[in-house]
Amino acid sequence: MSYDYDLFVIGAGSGGIAAARRAAEYGTKVGVAEVSNLGGTCVNRGCIPKKLMVYASHFPALYEDAQGYGWSAVESSLDWQKMITTVNQEVERLNGVYQRMLDKAGVDLIQGYAKFLDPHTLEIGERKVTADKVLIAVGGHPVKPEEIPGIEHAIVSDDMFHLKEQPKQIVIIGGGYIGVEFACIMQGLGSQVTQLIRNDLILRGFDDDLRSGVQEGMKQHGIRIINLTEPPVIEKTPQGLKVTIKGDSEETVVADAVSLAATGRKPSLEKLGLENADVEISEGAIATDEYSRTSQENIFAVGDCTDRINLTPVAINEGRAFADTQFGGKSRTMSYENVPSAVFSTPEAASVGLTEAQAREILGDAVKIYRARFRPMYHTLTGREDKTIVKLVVDQKTDKVLGAHMVGDYAAEIIQGIAIAVKMGATKKDFDATIGIHPSTAEEFVTMR
Ligand code: NDP
Repeated sequence: MSYDYDLFVIGAGSGGIAAARRAAEYGTKVGVAEVSNLGGTCVNRGCIPKKLMVYASHFPALYEDAQGYGWSAVESSLDWQKMITTVNQEVERLNGVYQRMLDKAGVDLIQGYAKFLDPHTLEIGERKVTADKVLIAVGGHPVKPEEIPGIEHAIVSDDMFHLKEQPKQIVIIGGGYIGVEFACIMQGLGSQVTQLIRNDLILRGFDDDLRSGVQEGMKQHGIRIINLTEPPVIEKTPQGLKVTIKGDSEETVVADAVSLAATGRKPSLEKLGLENADVEISEGAIATDEYSRTSQENIFAVGDCTDRINLTPVAINEGRAFADTQFGGKSRTMSYENVPSAVFSTPEAASVGLTEAQAREILGDAVKIYRARFRPMYHTLTGREDKTIVKLVVDQKTDKVLGAHMVGDYAAEIIQGIAIAVKMGATKKDFDATIGIHPSTAEEFVTMR
């Protein structure tokens, strides 16, 4: 049977594009369907515009810090519209880069929403295409918790990149990556931020020292973090959105028209017609094996729509592993062990490997913790009390470093390097045998006793 394509990819986000390009390199005839702009969540409404806004949010503190080093006071104010415009211009530039990459690879792009008619046939608008293999890489979208009265008035992270005006007062619901990053961005840009969480600490899943370190730092920078005991109530009033909070503080906050629900994301599967292709869904996500194969032999899925580890580099690696295996004659699976990640909060945090709690659950008392908490050299002259935390989780029996965690400037950059050592199975002795770069924060990782 002959098909229009050897591979058809649904979704031109990080995972889909990576797989399409890699497969095309092997001489595969590839088509991609995308309903929106190229680049998916990461490029259009996630990592990239978010990180640019993180950079923007750091300037006021830098201006202040400079005075500790002898600079005169800087008077500067934010042109919100200009920031939003330049951030979105960069996003558009990247959309163009992706288009050129697909063109260069000889991949056909079809604009529109693809729906399965059967395991080998997709309908995209008026058009029907057939493919030998299909890769689903449709990503996810933010969800709003239904149990919060008035949640329909809240915006989600996607909307943050298009606000016409800077909110003076913003309430953020959720203590995960997105809630924490936006709380810090908005505080840095000069908004008053109240963050509502439903646990004692933000960033569930991370090491507790990292969680408390970031939370303390955020509070020190002026973010109000409130532990909820009941869902908040949101009402639209002429003054703005009235948020009634019941928690460790009981109060009403009027946020000027903005209240961000950052309470998780879920795979975007509703209109894909998966039932026509017999693709199984498990707990709201596409079920796959270690080769990203779904319950249907010729259909595969990568990225957030499979809800494994929802990070761009993971989706890219899954996509490339799929293409190498299916079209490049190099069978390989993606390793989900020791995947590093960072939270671009202020203070920044990053992590690789096991948390202390995870290690103790596996190894009990055979876990040794090395930890340092200190004021970084930079702040000795700024007068700020910001603290840096570095931490290693070590298996006492094998001396292997099981986890590395950091809170502080450049945490993401530093942990990326440490992640190579952890992935390679480095021992604490290997860390100790490494000479530090002085004076730096990173040297603490090789000097802790
Ligand atoms: P997360 O699942 O990380 O966090 C959701 C947060 O919302 C949790 O703190 C959760 O609390 C809280 N929450 C859920 N429901 C409610 C509710 N009804 N009331 C109050 N709080 C609630 O989701 P995010 O949306 O922050 O991020 C989604 C994914 O995107 C992440 O898992 C990550 O993979 C990815 N991402 C990665 C980034 C990075 O690498 N830097 C940046 C941004 C996103 P609880 O802990 O109690 O469940």
